[in-house]
Amino acid sequence: MQPVKTSRLGSAELPDGRSVERYRLEAVPFALEVMTLGATVTALEVPDRSGRIDNVVLAHDRIADYAAGGSDYFGATVGRVANRIAGGWFELDGHIHQLACNDGRNHLHGGAAGFDRHCWSARRTQAAGEAAVEFERTSPADEEGYPGALHVSVRYTLRPTGEIELSYEATADASTIVNLTNHTYFNLRGAGRGDVLQHDLRLAADTFLPIDESLIPTGALHPVAGTPFDFRSGARIGSRLAASDDQLRLARGYDHCMVLSGMKPEEATALLHAATLSDPDSGRQLQVWTDQPALQLYTGNFLDGSATGPGGLAHVRHGGVCLETQGFPDAPNHPRFPSIRLDPGQRYRRTTMWRLAVAR
Ligand code: BGC
Repeated sequence: MQPVKTSRLGSAELPDGRSVERYRLEAVPFALEVMTLGATVTALEVPDRSGRIDNVVLAHDRIADYAAGGSDYFGATVGRVANRIAGGWFELDGHIHQLACNDGRNHLHGGAAGFDRHCWSARRTQAAGEAAVEFERTSPADEEGYPGALHVSVRYTLRPTGEIELSYEATADASTIVNLTNHTYFNLRGAGRGDVLQHDLRLAADTFLPIDESLIPTGALHPVAGTPFDFRSGARIGSRLAASDDQLRLARGYDHCMVLSGMKPEEATALLHAATLSDPDSGRQLQVWTDQPALQLYTGNFLDGSATGPGGLAHVRHGGVCLETQGFPDAPNHPRFPSIRLDPGQRYRRTTMWRLAVAR
């Protein structure tokens, strides 16, 4: 068995004086780097079929760039509620809660200073044959307008098989809403090496949520059959991007909630296979398993090459694809969507697994 270890990479200071700790989890030949700012994934190293190791996730060049106010959420843990809430408001037990609106008139990814902008505390956890780091923080009541204080943790575990487990937990001291995800952009060719349009994607989604012009779900569940959203048997990501399709036009690409088939959130105990992303050139493959009911497929439509990552490599349009496992967007405003409510005494628990493999 290959050695597994977790090491501290040291700290970096943000312009506002906060100190960010960085960690490296290694299970040769795989490595994952994470940091306390946003409980963020900053690097994921994976060999290709010739043994060459590349980082396959988009990252900023400097830690300060993560805190600078951009809206790309590279690798971040997103919360308290990921994705959009229409008009930034929702009703809970007869009370209207107004959240921060940071995406036009809507709330996006937890607001102006979501979980990605906060420094979490970190501790290495020890278990045989695993490298792991657990981050936690308490989001105070009224943060970005959310009711109730929320204590939240996310643990990253790397196993020698190339499996990375992301496990989330949260408890609240008053009724609130919670929907956590990770916002990693994958490029299995290697981050900064062009776009992901030649990657193959397979998704276990029979339906998706159509959106309006501000990218809010209309409330309908639309079958993927006969649309560019049908990835059930696998397809090149770029093969249908140019199709004349209103939904693709509204989002300038894929930016849609794919409803995972066979997932009954209230019963979820086992992880289901949600997605497989593979790059025929490098042979790298990523499988996503989850107990979440949905996956936001986002093809980096708003990246424009102006930002660069480590090594000066530009983040071009479609330079990465996000496979964000989560609850349904705008859930509190759609009674038919699975609830994202959390009450005191309950524990929110969700797990997503990334399984890495290399075709020979
Ligand atoms: C959203 C996109 C958004 C991106 C970066 C994705 O999760 O679906 O609409 O532009 O995050 O903020």
